[in-house]
Amino acid sequence: MGVDADRDAALAAAMRHAQAWLRSLDERPVPARASIEELTAIFGGSLPEGATAAADVIELLGTHAERGLVAIPSGRFFGFVIGATYPVALAADWLVSAWDQNAGLRQVTPANTALEETAAAWLLDLLGLPTSSAVGFVTGGTMANFTCLAAARGTVLRKAGWDEARDGLSGAPRIRVLVGAERHDTVDLSLRYLGLGMPEEVAADAQGRIDIAALESALARDVERRPTIVCLQAGNVHSGAFDDFAHAIAVAHRHGAWVHVDGAFGLWAAASPMLKHLVAGVEQADSWATDAHKTLNVPYDCGVAIVRDPAALRAAMGMHGEYLVMDEAGRDPYERVPELSRRARAIPVWAVLRCLGRQGVADLVERLCGHARAFADGVAKIADVEVLNDVVYTQVCLAFADDARTRRIVQRMLDDGTAWITGSVWRGRAVLRISVSSWATTDADVARSLDALRRAAAAA
Ligand SMILES: *Cc1c(COP(=O)(O)O)cnc(C)c1O
Repeated sequence: MGVDADRDAALAAAMRHAQAWLRSLDERPVPARASIEELTAIFGGSLPEGATAAADVIELLGTHAERGLVAIPSGRFFGFVIGATYPVALAADWLVSAWDQNAGLRQVTPANTALEETAAAWLLDLLGLPTSSAVGFVTGGTMANFTCLAAARGTVLRKAGWDEARDGLSGAPRIRVLVGAERHDTVDLSLRYLGLGMPEEVAADAQGRIDIAALESALARDVERRPTIVCLQAGNVHSGAFDDFAHAIAVAHRHGAWVHVDGAFGLWAAASPMLKHLVAGVEQADSWATDAHKTLNVPYDCGVAIVRDPAALRAAMGMHGEYLVMDEAGRDPYERVPELSRRARAIPVWAVLRCLGRQGVADLVERLCGHARAFADGVAKIADVEVLNDVVYTQVCLAFADDARTRRIVQRMLDDGTAWITGSVWRGRAVLRISVSSWATTDADVARSLDALRRAAAAA
């Protein structure tokens, strides 16, 4: 076969397998049916010496991987906080791979630049954030936290008279980082990457929101007036709760701190007129991390790092290379993210926003929250179960009478396979967590999942 025919055959095979997979989602069990060992026996063995036709490799992949896939893009996956993929985002993502643009340099790839800059402007508009902020498209919420906190680190040290880019961290003034007791663990991980060590915990209330009085007294305790970063949260992974941004940010800024907001999935409340009260005041912060591969339902991997002061982000992430075709005004995408070479991952974001429009994004977020409330209402009719959180957003946390029973029900739900609702521990109690993050979830999916939960509760 010639190059064109070979490629077309591989792409056609991929298309066929993708469509079969996506069509199977409504009826297939959510968990995988094949084990890692079975699949390794098929895909593994020693590396072949010779070549295999591209289409044959795709055929092998599509045929055998299928039983080992989890129906994450179905409407009944409620684990972790994970979105599905909108058809328009998936199709755009295929083009991203086919086009194979390296998205680092502004002048080199005009189509990517136009799409990325448009997506960035639309995101700032939807999220109600300052329109002059810098936006970096990173791999996810973790790297968005890392990228924003790198800008924070450089800035608070510069204000303390220390040039961290030149002199590093040895001998630098020690930075104080204050976090709520229920911040996401990736905030700690980002701080570790940045050499900032463990943060200081500030008490949280029963929903997991940072306690403003405790934050104020922690900030006031600092007699040396050390460089300070405060991390707040939009969307607690157990309760969905939001910190009180208006108050927390005012208090932190009064003490000269940089305020970072981890809003991996919660920041999207801002896109809905009905829900944006949850993030009131969030636009006063200095940086914001969010994900597009959660609430916005684009494919992995796509997170967004947003920094109010573009110069702060560029100081942390920028660099100069003589061989690069650099933008003279300093607008190169690579100067806003840790990577130089990277995928044009803003294009699926552009495609979803272009497809849904402002109203469609608001409807999406409201629909996710509506399903979460329907879960809470439905769960209330099951004997001896309790919804532990105020269901203000997309998360529902429930517990049965004792931890052992809750854990048995987690297992039964997995065995049943109708819906993926897994366990966690929240405020010392074993819980089942329901996270509604998928555009694909329908009222019927919620009803089927509640039926499965009722069956599991009756049997355990
Ligand atoms: C998911 C999540 C993260 C991490 O995001 P990744 O995209 O998985 O890296 C950070 N913070 C919160 C609140 C999250 O829900």
